[in-house]
Amino acid sequence: MEINSLTGEFMLAPLEGAYLKHKQAQTQELLGFTLVFCTVFYLGFFATDLAVLGWGVETMVSLAARVLVAVIAGTCAWLAYRRALSVRATRVAASLSEGVALASFMLISFLRPGEFHWHAMSLAIMLVVIYLYIPNRLRYATALSVAATLAFVALAGKYGHMAFADALTMVMLLVLVNTFGFLAARRFNHVSREEYRSWSVLKHAAERDHLTGCFNRRYLHEQLMGGQWAGRARDANSLTVVLCDIDRFKHINDTHGHGDGDMVLRGFARILHAATRDGIDSVVRYGGEEFLVVLPGTDLGGGIRLAERLRVTFAATEVVSHDGATRLRATASFGVATIDLTQLASDAPLRRLITAADELMYQAKRNGRDRIESLQLA
Ligand code: GH3
Ligand code: MG
Ligand code: MG
Repeated sequence: MEINSLTGEFMLAPLEGAYLKHKQAQTQELLGFTLVFCTVFYLGFFATDLAVLGWGVETMVSLAARVLVAVIAGTCAWLAYRRALSVRATRVAASLSEGVALASFMLISFLRPGEFHWHAMSLAIMLVVIYLYIPNRLRYATALSVAATLAFVALAGKYGHMAFADALTMVMLLVLVNTFGFLAARRFNHVSREEYRSWSVLKHAAERDHLTGCFNRRYLHEQLMGGQWAGRARDANSLTVVLCDIDRFKHINDTHGHGDGDMVLRGFARILHAATRDGIDSVVRYGGEEFLVVLPGTDLGGGIRLAERLRVTFAATEVVSHDGATRLRATASFGVATIDLTQLASDAPLRRLITAADELMYQAKRNGRDRIESLQLA
């Protein structure tokens, strides 16, 4: 989870993507709020155009430029508040608003050539807002800010009629604001990602079992029993659970030792993870050598097929012991229970399914182990 020291972003693209997705709702809200705030000020500053230019064609041009900014930034703010935008769309909205505001600012500065000292101050404040307040990728904010600074200095050189000392001070102040804007934004990126890193580690520790990497009972009770499985699969009508229990596991522990028993548990968890769908199904370590698989959108046939695949794969998999000297094999028994949510209304379907699957799993034990028992709840 390394962070790039120049940009303050995660080095690994998928991790950076996950971070941005995690922050997206907050980013949109911040974008909406900041753009509304900036738009109000941008329009409010029309009073200064009027004070300097009076009513006339140039004032109307500056008003048109300010209204254009208000329309673009206002639309982006509305979208950020009202629509679920992608990370990319949010960045486009931020960059577009910033670009249009900076271009309009250049035009207004050109219309008011007597006040480049003040314009420089306004630009510096706009750059602080762009670097630090409008959420955008740092490299885009930097590119826009540096381009605007260069354009502004060129305009001041051509139309500002400034004394050399004034022009030099202005350039140095703009370099300063760009430098500190960049550094502060980079630090913010860094701190925010460090916070996300700590959050992810804590979340993982809180909801996963350390030995197998499966979800723990806390996750089962707080998230899955709370209905978190709903909406994960396209077919919202059926829910299946498979309860798996390794056969005669105590015997494995007794003959090979606890360490090798742990290897068998890890091996079984790996098979469960490989056979299930990431982000849809959940693999829970339900007890010592008992695992629960929650399968949203899976009917009884699908549940049985999965359990059969797990049964055959596990029975055929050899686990190499700690010292590498012995190869262990084990089997498991399975209880598969399904509920048709359209036929059977239940406010706690998962709880009912687990109770049923538990009973079926014991039935599989009684019937000889290394087998599957299944039931459609009615
Ligand atoms: P059955 O076929 O009826 O399921 O028999 P079993 O021996 O698998 O069932 P039993 O419930 O008697 O034994 C489960 C064993 O699992 C007992 C316990 O010591 C062991 N166990 C529980 N958690 C762990 C663990 O984290 N690591 C290891 N190595 N063993 C564990
Ligand atoms: Mg067992
Ligand atoms: Mg057991």
